Amino acid sequence: MPLTLRVDGEPWRAHLRTVVESHPGIVPVAKGNGYGFGIAKLARRADWLGVDTVAVGMYEEAPQVLPRFAGDVLVMTPWRPESPWPSEAARRTIHTLGRSEDLQTLADRHPGSRVVVEGLTTMTRHGLPRQELAAAVSTTRALRVEGVALHLPMAGDRLAEAEEWCAKLTSVDLATTTVFVSHLDDTELRALISRWPSLTVRPRIGTDLWLGNRGVLHPVATVLEVHQVRRGQRVGYRQRSVPRDGWLLVLCGGTAHGIGLEAPTAGVTVRSRGIALAKGGLESAGFALSPFTVDGRRRWFAEPPQMQVSMVFVPARRAVPAVGDEVPVDVRFTTTTFDTVHIS
Ligand SMILES: *Cc1c(COP(=O)(O)O)cnc(C)c1O
Repeated sequence: MPLTLRVDGEPWRAHLRTVVESHPGIVPVAKGNGYGFGIAKLARRADWLGVDTVAVGMYEEAPQVLPRFAGDVLVMTPWRPESPWPSEAARRTIHTLGRSEDLQTLADRHPGSRVVVEGLTTMTRHGLPRQELAAAVSTTRALRVEGVALHLPMAGDRLAEAEEWCAKLTSVDLATTTVFVSHLDDTELRALISRWPSLTVRPRIGTDLWLGNRGVLHPVATVLEVHQVRRGQRVGYRQRSVPRDGWLLVLCGGTAHGIGLEAPTAGVTVRSRGIALAKGGLESAGFALSPFTVDGRRRWFAEPPQMQVSMVFVPARRAVPAVGDEVPVDVRFTTTTFDTVHIS
């Protein structure tokens, strides 16, 4: 009796193909919760798409991809001397290196390793400052350099920043002409490709690939119980009283699934409370709006979500679902763990 992600398979697969075809050299990203699908499913799907490389966030995620995907696995978290070494899959693993001293250590320990050198952008997460790139070149001779990686922020003049790196790359003697870029939009990507014909630009894309056709993804929660309740009746762990006559629904989906972990969307100012009160909203009584839709409307949590289930309140005279039915639930895919993913 799960929290399920139902996917309209045909349009979803068509969307994936379109994104891959319109982004030559794309490196699909499969990390974290696998964008709601799970990393293993994305790995198989990437194999089906026929791409040559998949990017994971961390070394610990690579074992989920390697047996299901025939190509290379790019680990985006920079290699450090204490990183686990993928001995069996060393040939198919591409490491990200973001510090000169790590390049040296890796070259000493595992000469011939496949690496991308990450450039430090204004994102300011990982990477080598641009002025250190030239000095790092000699160290990289003992390694197989597969590209330079740029992780750009979502704001600012990213194209100009990417171009500064392209200029640098073409001026130093690094044995690669490939640039992996993250978070350029399609227009910026096209501009970069056309302005730097001597370079191969490879976009690393997760969200816009897996979740880009949001309309074909249907997260649903199974109805576990439907209890008729009376105004004032006490329910739940906290024994709060029910505000009106109606129904208490027990729905699959709790904190362990990532339900209710976001800041409530409803306003919290005094003024918005006043408005909610004027509208008769339950927010003014301290109730929070749930992500579950029943009879066409989002319903209020009767109490904070529990570990695997949530209790929501539905007023009398609304159509209530039956036990076993599924109701829509609005989730953030990157923070939700579904019990099952069903792709038609
Ligand atoms: C997560 C990540 C991506 C993919 O980001 P999306 O917004 O999901 O496309 C690309 N590059 C890096 C370095 C990342 O960490």
